[in-house]
Amino acid sequence: MKDVGEEMAQQMRNRNWMKNYKELIDDAFSDEEVKRFVAKNQMSQSELARSASKVYEFVTIKRQIENGEVTPAPGYQPQLVYNNHLIDVSYVPSDELVKNQKLAEIKSRVRTLNMPKAIRNAQLADFDIVGREEIAQAAVDFIDGYTTNPNKFIKGMYIQGSFGVGKTYLLGAIANGLAEEGFRSTMLHFPSFAVEIKNAIGTNSVIGKIDSIKKSPVLMLDDIGADQLSSWLRDDVLGIILQYRMQEELPTFFSSNLSLKDLLTQYLTVNNRGEAEPLKARRIMERIIYLSKEYTMIGKNRRHS
Ligand code: ADP
Ligand code: MG
Repeated sequence: MKDVGEEMAQQMRNRNWMKNYKELIDDAFSDEEVKRFVAKNQMSQSELARSASKVYEFVTIKRQIENGEVTPAPGYQPQLVYNNHLIDVSYVPSDELVKNQKLAEIKSRVRTLNMPKAIRNAQLADFDIVGREEIAQAAVDFIDGYTTNPNKFIKGMYIQGSFGVGKTYLLGAIANGLAEEGFRSTMLHFPSFAVEIKNAIGTNSVIGKIDSIKKSPVLMLDDIGADQLSSWLRDDVLGIILQYRMQEELPTFFSSNLSLKDLLTQYLTVNNRGEAEPLKARRIMERIIYLSKEYTMIGKNRRHS
């Protein structure tokens, strides 16, 4: 036999629930946007009744967004759609989501290896140009030239200058400028890359690593000359990368504390065992000169200011 008391209680709960439900739905239909939508589509009572749950969904999510609450699909805005005489809700990405997705896409075009995080936000517009007009102009000219015709070879820049003047910052700004126009580049801290590649010797991944670097449409080797080079790194890593880029005419940038002349004598010529190999050094130098034009960056040391 049924438990009458329990059944009555159940009915009471349902009645309450029905009452609540009706209030919720009435409330949802009182939303101004919903009212305009219903009027515009001249919907019948039965159509409205069958659309109730969708209208409720629309208004609930809309209010969650207005109150800054987390919605089931963050970044998406509900929209009323009239579909087969019923109301449906579709979700469209909000302007902010679209903007963030665009920014993420731009950032994804710049591949960085062991680069400081701050470089990711470097902008040419923020580059301090006083006394550095020539180098700033060269950066702008490169971006203009490359984005106008990426298949025509343009020399990159060899930026020399003392510690903290903003060489790496400028490289980052160029990479970001290219990314905004849809072009990919790779920036790597050369001394860290050298250590990484040395550590990879036992793992068979050396060739893959070198390949992915050498083929980057635009490559920036940051801080070259800051470490000590072995003959292997010079000839079989750096040499291979530069040889490929020269053959394929791919723009390549460098930053260094050393001038080209000092790079040759102090970095490329003497290997880490102290042996002088001037001919091999010259070969690397010829490639650097083919790929880039030397600029000297002056300025204050921003790391101490
Ligand atoms: P370098 O590579 O010549 O040693 P960096 O590019 O690393 O120098 O610059 C030194 C510091 O100054 C970094 O923290 C960098 O982010 C900052 N910096 C350089 N140029 C600018 C700039 N134009 N606007 C803002 N910060 C800058
Ligand atoms: Mg630097």
